[in-house]
Amino acid sequence: MERYRRAFRKKVIPWYYRGKIHVAIFSIIQISAIFFIGSRLSWEISTLLVIFFALGYATTFTYFLHRFLLHRKLPGFGWAYKMHHWHHTFYQSHRMEYDGLDDVYMLLMPPWIQIFYFMVYLPGLALVAGLFLPPHLILPFAFGLTLWYGIYELVHWIEHLPLNHWAIKLPFMKSARKGHAIHHSRLKDVANFGIVEPSWDYIFKTKV
Ligand SMILES: [Zn+2]
Ligand SMILES: [Zn+2]
Repeated sequence: MERYRRAFRKKVIPWYYRGKIHVAIFSIIQISAIFFIGSRLSWEISTLLVIFFALGYATTFTYFLHRFLLHRKLPGFGWAYKMHHWHHTFYQSHRMEYDGLDDVYMLLMPPWIQIFYFMVYLPGLALVAGLFLPPHLILPFAFGLTLWYGIYELVHWIEHLPLNHWAIKLPFMKSARKGHAIHHSRLKDVANFGIVEPSWDYIFKTKV
């Protein structure tokens, strides 16, 4: 496995790539977005309800995207399939953890996807949400989607930490990691597509 990983890194990771810069970009964008939107919210019960709704929407969207776009070669989305295939090839159920920070190249979404998410996808969705929600609830909706991006990346990251890491001992993380390891086995195309939480896997009977 070690020799395989070395060869994989050589083949896939560009020479100029630095994991710590990738993590820094992710953190700066994520923290800025949370503070930028969060500081404009007025915290009422309706705010919390809309944030919760946005998280529910996001976990649904993520399940379907993961199951039907990242695990199938759809026309025009071969690049997404390939990136996810790298993730599954590098991290396998018996070797889920990464060795060094440069291995996040096969773990975190690339910065351009995060920029697209915050500059195009999120504003576009907020516009659509504006057709159904009163104006003061658009920002809570955007805040929920902002939180989701960070939660998704962090939970997925923890699922790829060594088993003795303290973060695995956080509530729910042990079962989340166990479930995600099954998704990194030969069952990858049929089981455990919910990376953060398994509700849609239970509904569609893809939970193992
Ligand atoms: Zn994974
Ligand atoms: Zn997958």
